Order: sequence, then structure tokens, then C-alpha cells
Amino acid sequence: MKYISTRGQSPALTFEEAMLTGLARDGGLYVPETWPTLSADEIAGFAGKSYEEVAFAVMKPFIGDTFTDIEFLEIIHKSYASFGHLARCPIVQLDENHFLLELFHGPTLAFKDVAMQLIGQMFEKALGRRGDKVTIVGATSGDTGSAAIEAFKGLDAVDVFIMFPDGRVSDVQRRQMTTPTESNVHALAVDGDFDDCQALLKDMFNDFDFRDGVKLAGVNSINWARVLAQVVYYFTSAVSVGAPHRKVSFTVPTGNFGDIFAGYVAKRMGLPIDRLVIATNQNDILHRTLQTGDHTKTGVNPSISPSMDIQVSSNFERLVFDLYDREGAAVAQLMTALKDDGTFTLSQGALGKLKDEFDSGRCSEEQTSKAIKIAFQDVNEVLCPHSAIGVHVANTIPRDETVPMITLATAHPAKFPAAVEAACGVHPELPGRMADLFERDERMTKVGNDLSAVEALIRERVGV
Ligand SMILES: *Cc1c(COP(=O)(O)O)cnc(C)c1O
Repeated sequence: MKYISTRGQSPALTFEEAMLTGLARDGGLYVPETWPTLSADEIAGFAGKSYEEVAFAVMKPFIGDTFTDIEFLEIIHKSYASFGHLARCPIVQLDENHFLLELFHGPTLAFKDVAMQLIGQMFEKALGRRGDKVTIVGATSGDTGSAAIEAFKGLDAVDVFIMFPDGRVSDVQRRQMTTPTESNVHALAVDGDFDDCQALLKDMFNDFDFRDGVKLAGVNSINWARVLAQVVYYFTSAVSVGAPHRKVSFTVPTGNFGDIFAGYVAKRMGLPIDRLVIATNQNDILHRTLQTGDHTKTGVNPSISPSMDIQVSSNFERLVFDLYDREGAAVAQLMTALKDDGTFTLSQGALGKLKDEFDSGRCSEEQTSKAIKIAFQDVNEVLCPHSAIGVHVANTIPRDETVPMITLATAHPAKFPAAVEAACGVHPELPGRMADLFERDERMTKVGNDLSAVEALIRERVGV
């Protein structure tokens, strides 16, 4: 399996190369050259299998010979041993035909752990074999950063730098990034919003002198391996409610479009997914795009679901590539317009294809709080604000009631205690293993929204 860039101007890479690189040199994102498929019989055979067994079967066609079967199984088992639930990603029932997929049982209590734990193990194996060292730089709206730090802390072959928007992440999120004591962990509080952090990261990847000098690697959801790891739970959850013998739909709280793109991949692989529903907060660029094809940035409006406070939805580029029949030049043109003018418009053909697979809904701040309250009152389920957005949208968009709906619960409520308590009166407790989070010492460096200053700091810390 080879990986090609969505902008068509970078050489094809192996899985290992694409994983260690992150962003393509032409500014594009790596995607598999073709979508491998699983037969209905193979999918039916997942019933009753462990999460780890399904993970192996779903991801194997994508990794080529990067790892032997034995190595890959060992990586998968190590990755999920840290999860606080035996099913890894269990589902609970909300009502007759609506299910909640709990993706928050990993070490930092958000779905990012599902992919990040796996990437940590894969990096360690691949770099160890090469005798290489890399510098991982990530941008986070809160959850990616803590998940990356948890996955990479203490590893010899990496330094990990995480840029987060100063003052715009929750106290739990910040403390998860600033309290680890390992010397290879560097938390950078950027004077800006998440899109500024993400733009800094992209600019570092496009500064080839810096990129090569520090051996830059990316673990944001622009990294294909992240998306891949998330494909697995679409299969496990769909099978547990009756696929492939019946169709299933998913509603996904969306920011950077990584998680829901994984659902699209599952569908391409043969999972009978009826609808994929994009759920946004008030930062609704994806909802607007689906309604009219107009993809215009409006500036980020901070919300009580901060992990979705995004207007530059990086992984959408991967879908755009397919919507434009995999023509890199067309994608490059749209992405240049987005960067230069803050806008592009999808062609009618592309918009039609988008609407064939996806629906969308937007959830206001007030509706988010109300959804938390109702879920607690009606089914005694305490939702984080992001998950509540999914539940609200799934419950309010027009849909085929005969098809089971699975809504992704992307974080544990204890990561966002203030918003949850204000909405439903319950103070969600942190699980025992992190009960002392607020007693630990914090360590972070404040930086301006300034590329050369941040690059200089990173060079100094890694000594190149
Ligand atoms: C990252 C995140 C999202 C958005 O996921 P994307 O893959 O960026 O669309 C939603 N909810 C939570 C809790 C997150 O951490």
C-alpha cells in the first residue's frame, strides 16, 4: 500500500514514511492510493472478537510490511492495555435506536487516546529499528496535546512539543499537558487561538530548513496513522448493533474532520454505513459548507466545547480530494484560495457527492447545555459538551428511524467539569488514577504567535 498526497506534487510513500512524516512537502495530506475492502463475511466475523483482534484485521491492509504480524499485534495490545474498560470503546444505549459510543476510557479521557497510544507504540518500534530520533510538534485545542504527551513521554527517540492556545483550554486539559515531569515533554502556551497554533505548525512543516534540521514529525490528525486507528471503532460498534446485516448511521462531533473522516474510510472499506452526520458547535464552517458549498472562515468564537473551536478543518482536504475525483491540482487550487482569501466554494458536482454521504447539524451553546441536562434527566447519562452536541444533532436532524444511530462520545465529562455542572448540577469526578491532578506542579513556556521565535526555542531545546 502506497500513500499519495492530496495535492499531487509529492512522491508516493510507504506507510512507515507517511507516518513518520505527517504533512506532505507540497502542503497536502497523505491518503492511501486505493481503499482496501473487507467482505461482508469478514465483517460479520468480527462479532464476538476482541477490540484488539478487530483492530488488527481492519488496519492490516494499510500498513504494508512496516511491521510483521507479530509485531503489529504486540503494538496493538500494548496500546490499549492502558484503557480503563475491557471493551476499550464500549457502547451504551440512549433510547430504542440510539447508541452512544464511549471513546473516553484512555489515559487522558478523550478519544484522541485511541489513535495516539497506537502511534506512540508504532513510532517507538519504527524509530528504534532505524536508530533515529525525531522532534514531534503538535498543535492542540486541548485533547490532542495531552494525548500526545501521554503517549510519547519518556520515550528516548522523541522530543514532544505541544502548542496550545493560552487561556483557551480547560484546567484539566492544561494540567494534563503541564504536569508530566519527563524531560522530553515541552508544553508551549501560545498567545493566540487554535487556528494560530495549527498555522504555526503548518508553517514549520513548510520551512524545510527547520523541518529537516530538527527532524520534524507531526502527530496531529493530519497524520494518516491517526485517522487509521479511528477507523477501527466504527467497525466494532457497527457490528455490535447488527452490521453488516443491517445499515448503521453515525453522528460525530466534529472539529478538524479527522474522526468523521475515519467513518468515511470505514464506509469505503465496505462497512454498510447509511448516513454520516457532521455535528458542529457555533463554529459551524462544516455545517455551512454542507448546506451551500460555501467554505468561508469567519474567525473562531470560543465555546463550552473548546476541542471543536476550529475553522480550518484540516482533514476536510482528504474528503475534498475524493470529491474532486482525486485530482491534486484541483485540491491545491482550493486550498490556496482558503489560505489566501479565507474561502473557497465547492463545485456543484463535489457538493452533490458530499450530500450523498453526509448530513450536518449545528448546536448552539444553549442547546449544548440543554442536551447535557436532558441526557442526565432522561437516561442518567452525564455527557461532556462535545458528546452532547452529537446527541443533540442526532436527535434533531431528520433521519430514517429504522436505522440505528451511533453517536460518538468523544470525551469524559470530568474533562469539562464547569460546563457540565452548570448544565446539569452534577460535578463529574476524575477517575481515581488522576485524582491528584490539581496537586501536581505545572511546567510550561509562554510564547508569542511568532514562527521564528517558536522555531528558535525548539532548536535550542533539542540542541540543533
Ligand atoms: C478532537 C476532539 C473533537 C473533534 O475531533 P476531530 O477529529 O478534530 O473532528 C471532538 N471532541 C473532542 C472531545 C475532541 O477532543
